[in-house]
Amino acid sequence: MMSQEIPYKIYLSEEEMPKQWYNVRADMKNKPAPLLNPATHEPMTLAELEHVFCTELAKQELDDTTPYFDIPDEILGFYRMYRPSPLVRAYCLEKKLDTPAKIYYKFEGNNTSGSHKLNSAIAQAYYAKQQGLKGVTTETGAGQWGTALSMACSYFDLDCKVYMVKCSYEQKPFRREVMRTYGASVTPSPSMDTEVGRKILAEHPGTTGSLGCAISEAVEAATSTEGYRYVLGSVLSQVLLHQTVIGLETKAALDKYDITPDIIIGCAGGGSNLGGLVSPFIGEMLRGEKKYQVIAVEPASCPSLTRGKYAYDFCDTGKVCPLAKMYTLGSGFIPSPNHAGGLRYHGMSSVLSQLYDDGLMEARSVEQTAVFKAAEQFARVEGILPAPESSHAIKVAIDEAMKCKETGEEKTIVFGLTGTGYFDMYAYESFHDGTMKDYIPTDEDLQPGFDSLPKM
Ligand SMILES: *Cc1c(COP(=O)(O)O)cnc(C)c1O
Repeated sequence: MMSQEIPYKIYLSEEEMPKQWYNVRADMKNKPAPLLNPATHEPMTLAELEHVFCTELAKQELDDTTPYFDIPDEILGFYRMYRPSPLVRAYCLEKKLDTPAKIYYKFEGNNTSGSHKLNSAIAQAYYAKQQGLKGVTTETGAGQWGTALSMACSYFDLDCKVYMVKCSYEQKPFRREVMRTYGASVTPSPSMDTEVGRKILAEHPGTTGSLGCAISEAVEAATSTEGYRYVLGSVLSQVLLHQTVIGLETKAALDKYDITPDIIIGCAGGGSNLGGLVSPFIGEMLRGEKKYQVIAVEPASCPSLTRGKYAYDFCDTGKVCPLAKMYTLGSGFIPSPNHAGGLRYHGMSSVLSQLYDDGLMEARSVEQTAVFKAAEQFARVEGILPAPESSHAIKVAIDEAMKCKETGEEKTIVFGLTGTGYFDMYAYESFHDGTMKDYIPTDEDLQPGFDSLPKM
């Protein structure tokens, strides 16, 4: 098909939306390592996981063999409020870059939470409701996950308790108010509400908190309150499973026009959007059907894939969660406070970690001023004001398109545009004012994090 016949936006119809999620673990010969009980170092059983997570979600977490899961009708109904999401041909960006590359992006920012996180939030809230629970607890850093979960909980009339990293709570009052609009209660973390919060505050008075600490508080709140469970917005295999709706739609849209991508790019925090985008494509690679270049992009300030160790680690500061084998900087790693936006978690999804270790995916780290430069370049021609997280993928997509300009290759590049950046204007401001700094940790800076890895 001639390229000019490809529309600016490929929309699937609602009927063409995927009706199942795809579990890439079923096609992996080397399965991701199991979650371990932090006390016994034995694989977590369903009975143990059920104590913390909703039962159906715990089953999804442990399932390495079922290739497809039906998406329940209630979730499909909710998806139809904002899906299918468009696959956009970045004609304007291509023209501006004067590249022979063909660039596409899957835009997940068209909902109030402003990101892809709603895809999993609604699934997790649904299973909590099915189980007859009263509510769920969670943590949020930049605030997108907390917003998505509060929307999902209000839809199913569930109580939602969010522990928000204290520095974000103070810096992003509007995020907080969006969550409260949807009925969530928002507590700055560390708080005096939980034992682990009180302990952390006693040891580090004046701390502005971290994701790992907020996770510990949310888990404690869930496990000590009748009728509550804990839910997590990334990293876990169940979250990656729900996010495959992104990749399945992308693939269906590309197939409609006989387009085969050469390069697929996504930003990587805990790995859920990237895993969701690339799973169907990596599945083809695992089955020996196709070959793609898959690139994970992470901040140079929090380089878990490019400089981390592949080891069992704690998922949270309070060490109450199961141990996960992943590329990690160590749960003791303190991310730089001047790094904007998310992507600051110390570890990476164990599914993506294994795929990366097996050479099915590569990883690049990028510095934040270069990321904001790419964000601005993109916004000026494509119109969308991207989230800082998403802009990591934009940066590498532009880099690859510029390589094509040099070599004359007409590669097809697909990247995930995970969300919008309207709540990140302080970061944009510091970029425009020239006060934004790049921070690359030295090996000495990373050492304390590695020293915090559990001795197995
Ligand atoms: C949370 C978030 C990310 C990173 O999380 P992953 O689990 O790695 O996908 C990326 N982009 C946006 C907009 C987010 O909100």
